[in-house]
Amino acid sequence: MADILYVVVPCYNEEAVLPETSKRLREKLSSLIKADKISDKSRIIFVDDGSKDKTWEIISELYEVDDIFGGIKLSRNKGHQNALLAGLMTAKEDADMIISMDADLQDDINAVDQFVDKYYEGCDIVYGVRSSRKTDTAFKRGTAGMFYKLMQLLGVDIVDNHADYRLMSKRAVEALSQFKEVNLFLRGIVKQIGFKSDIVYYERSERFAGESKYPLKKMLSFAFDGITSFSIKPIRLVTVLGFVVFLISIGFIIYTIVSNILGITVAGWSSLMCSLWFLSGLQIMALGIVGEYIGKIYTEVKKRPKFIIDEYKRHE
Ligand code: UDP
Ligand code: MG
Repeated sequence: MADILYVVVPCYNEEAVLPETSKRLREKLSSLIKADKISDKSRIIFVDDGSKDKTWEIISELYEVDDIFGGIKLSRNKGHQNALLAGLMTAKEDADMIISMDADLQDDINAVDQFVDKYYEGCDIVYGVRSSRKTDTAFKRGTAGMFYKLMQLLGVDIVDNHADYRLMSKRAVEALSQFKEVNLFLRGIVKQIGFKSDIVYYERSERFAGESKYPLKKMLSFAFDGITSFSIKPIRLVTVLGFVVFLISIGFIIYTIVSNILGITVAGWSSLMCSLWFLSGLQIMALGIVGEYIGKIYTEVKKRPKFIIDEYKRHE
């Protein structure tokens, strides 16, 4: 008996792509079921992340007409990472393996075959990695490249060019559920789980329809979140900076005293202004970074739920 596969797809205002995405996913899963690679209890679960358009109507309709489709409706928009997590946590109850992918068909559906093969070879996690970013704009490519470099520089262990297109086994998702943090950065956390893993390369294509739900502002906050959730290097950097400034200031004090004794001091307006601005700036920056972490602690200690499910539709 083949294992059960659940495909989890977070959707936020995706009415433009859902008809096509569901069609292609159904074809893919049907062929896998026919080849007896996955069980006929396999499902495609769309997670509606509080969409304002017809997304939930479309999902409900799919659920009505075909047993293979299921839907989870979140009580409100919680962002891609939380929507994905809601899907994973719900799916793990019934699935042996779960594949997560975006709704916009940017991830090549044909990689699913290799994901499943690797799963049967004993991998608990299979990462989908983009072999090229030809279709992304030069800007997105550049910023994303910088982001991965920066993360690695800061000591965060992530897979290069891997977004959230991956397969996880039931026990990998169960392990994931033990990570209780509220500030969720799945790409980093999944790497922490361990287990046997492998990589599948695929071509990333253009968004099939509709526009990106990740404008620059969201991308920046996502990157910042990723860094502060995983690395305390920024704090350490501030400490080192403070120490260096302290050393420099000792030099300045000696210089000032010596100048004073030699009687060559002049009304030092410019030097005063310089140090005033420099040090104030530095202090504010340091405070800001420390504040970021305090903010993180603040949200963590509250232990708020990461998502609330309004409705779960699925055929047994
Ligand atoms: N998404 C979501 N909630 C959000 C924003 C996005 O569930 O608040 C979903 C979206 O529907 C898509 C995936 O996350 O399936 C990735 O978003 P998008 O393709 O817009 O991002 P990009 O590929 O441009 O980075
Ligand atoms: Mg996309």
